[in-house]
Amino acid sequence: MAASELASRVKEGRHPDAPQQKDLDKCVHCGLCLNACPTYRELGVEMDSPRGRIYQMVQVATGAAPITDGYLEHMSLCLGCRACETACPSGVPYGRLIEAARTEIQARVPRRAPWRQIENFAFGTLLVTPWMLRLLGAGLWLHQKSGLETLVRKTGLLKLFGPLGKIEHLTPEAQLPTFYSNYGKVYFAEGPRKYRVAMLGGCIANVFFARLHEATVRVLQKNGCEVVVPAAQVCCGALHAHAGRREETRALARKNIDALLMTNFDAIISNTGGCGATLKEYHEILEHDEAYHDKAKVFVSKMKDVNEFLASIDLNKNMGRVERRVTYQDSCHLCHGQKVKAAPRQLLKSIPGLEFVEMPASDVCCGSAGIYNVVENDMAEEILASKMRNANSVAPDQIASSNPGCMIQLAAGCKLHGTGKLKDNAVPVRHVVELLDEAYRNA
Ligand code: SF4
Ligand code: SF4
Repeated sequence: MAASELASRVKEGRHPDAPQQKDLDKCVHCGLCLNACPTYRELGVEMDSPRGRIYQMVQVATGAAPITDGYLEHMSLCLGCRACETACPSGVPYGRLIEAARTEIQARVPRRAPWRQIENFAFGTLLVTPWMLRLLGAGLWLHQKSGLETLVRKTGLLKLFGPLGKIEHLTPEAQLPTFYSNYGKVYFAEGPRKYRVAMLGGCIANVFFARLHEATVRVLQKNGCEVVVPAAQVCCGALHAHAGRREETRALARKNIDALLMTNFDAIISNTGGCGATLKEYHEILEHDEAYHDKAKVFVSKMKDVNEFLASIDLNKNMGRVERRVTYQDSCHLCHGQKVKAAPRQLLKSIPGLEFVEMPASDVCCGSAGIYNVVENDMAEEILASKMRNANSVAPDQIASSNPGCMIQLAAGCKLHGTGKLKDNAVPVRHVVELLDEAYRNA
């Protein structure tokens, strides 16, 4: 957006981060995105399709309609999966539009108490305060390891708490020590150093996916990387951006740029599709920040998803066999946001003994979508059931993915709807780098 448009918006009383007219104008209403949209596929309702949502955004932007409860509902029901972006022949930047619509909603229709306070605490304090996340992890770990969790499940006590009981099965396993204890450390390359890379831990993934992060470091070491885990890095701000909390995302982006850009890394690595998509958009997020915009561009030029990075280098093929039939579920933000689709498949096919099998509609969302499976649980469950029908149809032993959020959702899906080995497997879902790590350890 040009500075002049920004100025005229502010003059017109519109929120500076509201959907931009030039983005809205790109939609020619052809409807080619409709079948790619999981909510349209489930509901068959135009207003819950990408075209319908864009139409409603135009109505609000032109002042033809106010922000109504219906508008809030249709925007909230969008997964933000960006499958419509891939399907759209007109190049509508739908991801940017939905985040902008939610930012405007946040500013113009503040949430009611106590949800406002809960949201402010979760986004403004918990996600950005490592000691609190560590404390949460330790508490959950005790709850899970002491047998209390099993007891609570057996007694059905959580059903008394309504919606909480419905999402309890999505609680992942807390892992101690958390990956925060690796912050500030440097891991040397195995063999001659070919690259020097920075590894991003994120926020909740440090607590619930610490072992995945460690596996990522090991795989990078095996591939000639010296891996630095910068101590001053912070949460990437992806969840804030998806929820329309744009200013908080900007503040976090500046901190990460300050923490990582001074040291000359060959690449900055994320193993989380959702975080990576936002990290690669820091230059758009800081578009009007004169002090940071150029730095953000350099930062973005170094950002790589771990699949993308490993597929771009001469991969170490000294792997042992992993005898398993594996299918792959695309992470929406890796595939539609970052346009990385071939790399994870290429890596899986490079593992000796691994039989790769493609499931139908692997690039349709699993219903995880950040915290969507928590806040829109009913729709997320329906989408998950469809996903599991597709996964079961190819009878895999395991599902691979590239995003911790998808891994939690798919693991819950395997318990609820899995058939054959997916039902019986104690670990039915793995990240691609965990499978590579296993192959290197088997060598
Ligand atoms: S982001 Fe996903 S759920 Fe939202 S409109 Fe696009 S395809 Fe549909
Ligand atoms: S978003 Fe793209 S595909 Fe969908 S109706 Fe608009 S122009 Fe067509």
